[in-house]
Amino acid sequence: MPTHRPKAKNRIRKAKLARGKLSVRRPKAVPKLLVRNRQVSEISEIVRKRAEAEAAIADAQKSDARLREAIDILPQGIVFLDAEGRYILWNKKYAEIYSKSADLFEHGAKLRDTLKVGVARGDYPEAVGHEEAWINERLEKLYHPGPAHEQVLADGRCILIEERLTSDGGVIGLRVDITELKQREASFRLLFEGNPVPMIVCAQDGERIIGVNDAAVAHYGYAREDFEKLKISDVQAFDQETPWTGDQSTEERAARTWKHVKADGSLIDVAIYSRLLVFEGKPAVLLALMDITERKRAEARLAFMAQHDGLTGLPNRILLRQRLDELLAHTRRSGDKVAVLFLDLDNFKAINDTLGHAIGDKLLKGVTKRLRSSLREEDAIARLGSDEFAVVQAGVTRPEEVAMLARRLIAAISEPYLFDGHTIVSGASIGIAIAPGDGDDAEKLLKNADMALSRAKSEGLGSFSFFESEMDARAQARRRIEIDLRDAIENSVLQPYYQPLVDLKSGQITGFEALVRWPHGERGMISPAEFIPVAEETGLINAVGGLMLRRACMDAAQWPDDVRVAVNLSPLQFRVGNLLSVVMDALKASGLSPKRLELEITETLLLDKSDQVLATLHALRALGVRISMDDFGTGYSSLSYLRSFPFDKIKIDQSFVRDLGSNHDAQAIVRSIISLGMGLGVTITAEGVETEAELSCLRAEGCHEGQGFLFSRARPNAEITQLLLAQRNARGAQSTLVA
Ligand code: C2E
Ligand code: MG
Ligand code: MG
Repeated sequence: MPTHRPKAKNRIRKAKLARGKLSVRRPKAVPKLLVRNRQVSEISEIVRKRAEAEAAIADAQKSDARLREAIDILPQGIVFLDAEGRYILWNKKYAEIYSKSADLFEHGAKLRDTLKVGVARGDYPEAVGHEEAWINERLEKLYHPGPAHEQVLADGRCILIEERLTSDGGVIGLRVDITELKQREASFRLLFEGNPVPMIVCAQDGERIIGVNDAAVAHYGYAREDFEKLKISDVQAFDQETPWTGDQSTEERAARTWKHVKADGSLIDVAIYSRLLVFEGKPAVLLALMDITERKRAEARLAFMAQHDGLTGLPNRILLRQRLDELLAHTRRSGDKVAVLFLDLDNFKAINDTLGHAIGDKLLKGVTKRLRSSLREEDAIARLGSDEFAVVQAGVTRPEEVAMLARRLIAAISEPYLFDGHTIVSGASIGIAIAPGDGDDAEKLLKNADMALSRAKSEGLGSFSFFESEMDARAQARRRIEIDLRDAIENSVLQPYYQPLVDLKSGQITGFEALVRWPHGERGMISPAEFIPVAEETGLINAVGGLMLRRACMDAAQWPDDVRVAVNLSPLQFRVGNLLSVVMDALKASGLSPKRLELEITETLLLDKSDQVLATLHALRALGVRISMDDFGTGYSSLSYLRSFPFDKIKIDQSFVRDLGSNHDAQAIVRSIISLGMGLGVTITAEGVETEAELSCLRAEGCHEGQGFLFSRARPNAEITQLLLAQRNARGAQSTLVA
């Protein structure tokens, strides 16, 4: 059909043009110019429009591609449906989430239809049994979107669905795969519920409680429903320094302890560890509550014990020092004075030893009670040592106020006590130091008050004494002695002098007492009465004692066989534990017969009657060594000590001998000691015999031996041999011995 050909050709051309597949060519020759002109402009118009449309389409295609690219990189699934529920656009993630149904997604396909197919093949387990209703509900939700909801897929994955209506009545839907989150939440739940540690989940504000575990319910005792309506601040005791606020950081909370109230009203100390987490899909704060009440209590107990005395409950030295320093810092600003009264019980040791520790303890408690009731609230009190107490008097203006308090305290303590039927009389001596004059720190004040106490004691029991700077000078002198004494020991400056012991019947020398002498380079001869106490305080006495033993045994080994040597022992030498071997070594090295060695001990050694001391004494005596009781009569309970050990000799203290001529009592005492000694079969020696009158009196009483300046002072070994020779020549005339 040739006539139709041009028409058909034209149609095809038009269609090709419309699709942009054909370029426009100028038409061939036209008969009339006008017609031709109009046709040309029409065609140009068409061409222009076409080009515009083509550009618009290209643009649309470009932005469509861009949109696709954009939504494809989103981590969530996204879908666009039109008002009729037809698929318009969806991203890769959406197809991935619904991978089972992805084959059904098609541009223009209806959601209802894909759901139908999906439900029928079991892609949505939630729908099983009520398929139609499920689909309807799903579609209903789609066009009336509410809050996000979850959907479980056939493979168990959990999808969070959120939908919004678009302006053209369509729907934009978001899908998030929350499977992992759900799993985590499930394992958290498991951990949370079954955890033995009480745990609470709070809302994001960190305060409102939204979940509690069984352990928390059990621990706090609140009913779960009530508990979950509270705020953390509701379980808080109201005496907290810093109240609980939700915006405290985790570290801030963990660093603190909180006081919580349990349902029964009791308080507990709690340490709280918190963490941010997602709970039931929402951000929340997990609080683990550690009940540390017991630990706190134990810590407090330990802290108390470290700072207090177990017996009296008073602060100890550590706490006193701390409080005193605080007080001093405060008074430095106010200009007030602070007094420290260092108090020591008189004869506490004797009471403890004779009546037992139980009574001693009662006495200390009794003293504490009396001290407390004699003090004002602002005064502090502490127990520093066995029978040492300290009182801190604040706000002092004049020393007389401190003296008044000291008198009052001594009087209060000196009132008799009645314990278990025993009436006990104690007393106290007090040393006083006042800040800032006598020191401006606790350490110095206590030291100076202690020094003043020594002075008070030396002035007689029951007195008090203020610190004076000259006491400090004395203490320094003591330190000097210590330093020089170390030197003297090292350089063998110390040496024994020997004072004869004379048989009062025959006038013959029976032996010598070795007395230590210290010729000091600058100070001349220093008396043992001055340096032996320092040696005892510093432990140097062991070196001094050992040295004296060795030297005395060496020297005596050169004397005639019937002449003994006596060496003084300090109680401290017994404490070290090697005294027996020190003595044995000295005997062995010198070759001196043990029978010729006498060891002088004082009553203080027997004060505590320890088994170790007695065992050492017996062992020494078993060697053949003689044991003498020195300075007899000066101790607290001299007679009882005689029963504790079989002494070979008793040396009557020189204070009794001194008074022999003038004092009747002294004579009676000396007489009874002599007869006691005779009764016990023990040698009696009188010390400090200075006059003929004393000598004849002692002779008349039947005293065995004498020692004193009347016979001779202590002399260096070089003179001893001569002395012994002279004695032999003089045949017993005592006068030859008088120095
Ligand atoms: P002590 O053991 O009672 O020694 C007797 C002291 O009386 C000696 O004093 C002696 O010199 C002194 N004396 C002796 N006869 C008379 C006298 O007629 N009149 C007076 N007024 N005094 C007399 P010394 O040597 O000063 O010793 C004092 C104390 O030092 C000794 O008393 C003793 O307790 C101690 N001592 C001395 N040497 C040693 C030693 O080597 N070791 C130990 N642990 N203590 C020693
Ligand atoms: Mg002696
Ligand atoms: Mg003596």
